[in-house]
Amino acid sequence: TTFADLDLNPKVQKAITEAGYETPTPIQAGAIPPALQGRDVLGIAQTGTGKTASFTLPMITMLARGRARARMPRSLVLCPTRELAAQVAENFDIYAKNVKLTKALLIGGVSFKEQEAAIDKGVDVLIATPGRLLDHFERGKLILNDVKVMVVDEADRMLDMGFIPDIERIFGLVPFTRQTLFFSATMAPEIERITNTFLSNPEKIEV
Ligand code: AMP
Repeated sequence: TTFADLDLNPKVQKAITEAGYETPTPIQAGAIPPALQGRDVLGIAQTGTGKTASFTLPMITMLARGRARARMPRSLVLCPTRELAAQVAENFDIYAKNVKLTKALLIGGVSFKEQEAAIDKGVDVLIATPGRLLDHFERGKLILNDVKVMVVDEADRMLDMGFIPDIERIFGLVPFTRQTLFFSATMAPEIERITNTFLSNPEKIEV
């Protein structure tokens, strides 16, 4: 598979060429086609396999048309730690540099005020840790009814950190008809249970 085979938005294709990527990694070759078809994806992949691009590239392609309304993000990426969330945001900036999409990073240790201002302006891609996302939701500043794609990254680490109840709660706050892209390095029984509950006929890719 080449990137040209993947039917990404040409502006996304240009950005990855400029980033020096030549060939999709196995998780990218496996996850991007079903994701672009709107399918749910269950990716079993470690860090370093290129999994970030495997969900970010199709998300950008799918969201490239359309605009977010105030306080209603169009997609959600949940990460276990601030560091990982910041890394996903950095990658997003590289891949989305030729398209007009907005993002916001909701992580702890930063004032709510700035994050709320970003949410108010309208966000296409919201990248968040679960606790901080729920804090914003509780404050009544965030509406999750327009989320079309939800990503759970490093679910096994979410489990280790005790975030599974938060994740389940967030699954209950986004539309039933959303697309879910779910990534974990391992499939512990608790992770298996979550994917059976919240993913709909997912394409499973194990690398
Ligand atoms: P990740 O597993 O998403 O953390 O990605 C690991 C590293 O691989 C990151 O520095 C990416 O920029 C890089 N990367 C991802 N996909 C590719 C690719 N297809 N070709 C070259 N480098 C890549």
